[in-house]
Amino acid sequence: MRDEKSSEDGDPIRTRDVWFTERDDKIALSLKHDGKLYDVQSDYQRVEVYNTQAYGNMLTLDGMVMTTEKDEYVYHEMITHVPLLTHPDPKRVLIIGGGDGGTAREVLKHENLEEVVMVEIDDKVIEASKMHLPTIAQSLDHPKLNLIIDDGIKYVNDAADGSFDLVIVDSTDPVGPAEGLFTVDFYKEVHRILSADGLMITQSESPRFNSKVFKEIYQTYRGIFGQDNVHCYLAHIPTYPTGMWSFSYSSKGSANPMNLKPTEEVDAFVKANKLRYYNADLHKAAFALPNFVKEMIG
Ligand code: SAM
Repeated sequence: MRDEKSSEDGDPIRTRDVWFTERDDKIALSLKHDGKLYDVQSDYQRVEVYNTQAYGNMLTLDGMVMTTEKDEYVYHEMITHVPLLTHPDPKRVLIIGGGDGGTAREVLKHENLEEVVMVEIDDKVIEASKMHLPTIAQSLDHPKLNLIIDDGIKYVNDAADGSFDLVIVDSTDPVGPAEGLFTVDFYKEVHRILSADGLMITQSESPRFNSKVFKEIYQTYRGIFGQDNVHCYLAHIPTYPTGMWSFSYSSKGSANPMNLKPTEEVDAFVKANKLRYYNADLHKAAFALPNFVKEMIG
């Protein structure tokens, strides 16, 4: 059944039972939705929010799924708590991208942090998320968050040596405004602005779907951080291509990602914050890689 009305003067385009499809040249992911709530061509990308039937409101950029209300917790808990519960004493955190606010929301659950800076290039992503993804964007006005609308590459180039304990690169895929976030020069600069025991975490694409980019990412990071200081961990994210997603954990010192804070402390944090994906067992399991992934990254 299809019941569609056209948009008038910026009103949401209301539809019913229509399929959104994210297409690659070989595979596609489709989600049935009941309307498009936001559709703006920003200076950088097309920003849209759909009201999907299975996953709630969903943000897409240039037709690619970024996050949905119902499965966002997997990505946001894994990109934040893995580093923050292994770094010995994180105080200063930098988030590059992350305009939906989910990463900032999770980072801010760590109350001992002194400084949290987030640099997002596109204010339309922030606007769309505040309007239509309020549970994800809820901390974007948090008093401790220094939210800067600018190019993350420029911000990192201008930042002082050793100025952050953790840099999280929560970026789009390596096309459009995020292209420069996937270059050797950018990661060298991130390495420079990390403190001596600093960590860099990035979303590192899907080993199944983006195998070429996935391999290149690990080669690049190892060239900068050292062969033994770059680790890969996995999570299951149903609305990303293939559902198998990876994150990289790189340390300027030689941090062991298995050196988790004491289990009681982690358990108390998980319980107090009602985390829905991350826990101490999952943390360890996430670094256990299937053989084909180990082979890909050597
Ligand atoms: N979780 C998502 C995923 O992997 O599909 C990514 C989250 S999305 C919110 C990533 C954000 O990075 C976008 O809002 C985009 O505008 C931002 N971004 C892209 N290039 C950037 C740059 N050079 N500087 C700062 N932010 C950037």
